[in-house]
Amino acid sequence: MKKLLMHACCAPCFVYIEDELRKKGLRNEDGSYEKVDYTACFYNPNIHPKVEYERRKEAFIKFCNIKDVKNIIIDEYELNKFLKDVVEQVGEKKKYKVRCEYCYYTRLKKVFEYAKENNFDIVSTTLTISPYQNHEIIKQVGKKLQEEYGIEFRYIDYTENFRQGQKMARELDIYMQKYCGCVFSIDAGKWVY
Ligand code: SF4
Repeated sequence: MKKLLMHACCAPCFVYIEDELRKKGLRNEDGSYEKVDYTACFYNPNIHPKVEYERRKEAFIKFCNIKDVKNIIIDEYELNKFLKDVVEQVGEKKKYKVRCEYCYYTRLKKVFEYAKENNFDIVSTTLTISPYQNHEIIKQVGKKLQEEYGIEFRYIDYTENFRQGQKMARELDIYMQKYCGCVFSIDAGKWVY
């Protein structure tokens, strides 16, 4: 059985996906499913403020405990690095065209590094259940990292299951945030990018 490392951006986005992984397996491009040995990985170093980072990390731990999901937490909080890199690397003619591209790349790169060191076959991310994320950029970033690390990146569009996942998270009393994560995405509780 293949080993999947699923990057979890937060617990609510993982709830539906975990349910599907457990009951059916991992979705293939042709719509079929394959059973996988999955582990969830929390690495989201730019959630602002720190107290919110801790809240989301605790929600992830709570959910993994409820469902008895194998998990790892890369517990690194890097606000200063994130802000410095956004200024230096994001913008016209810089390495990244938009902030979220940089954010996806750095988060997923760390997950790929862990996957490589620990012999995982596939990497995926719960970011792609959210209709608020930029799926094209996530796909491009994932495929770039697939080339870099020689590990498959599985892009799956779970957006049709987003509301169902939120409902399941509420039923389990899992904390649900009101913005994506970084300081730039906080705007009076609205989702902004
Ligand atoms: S809005 Fe979300 S995806 Fe974009 S940079 Fe901020 S935390 Fe990352």
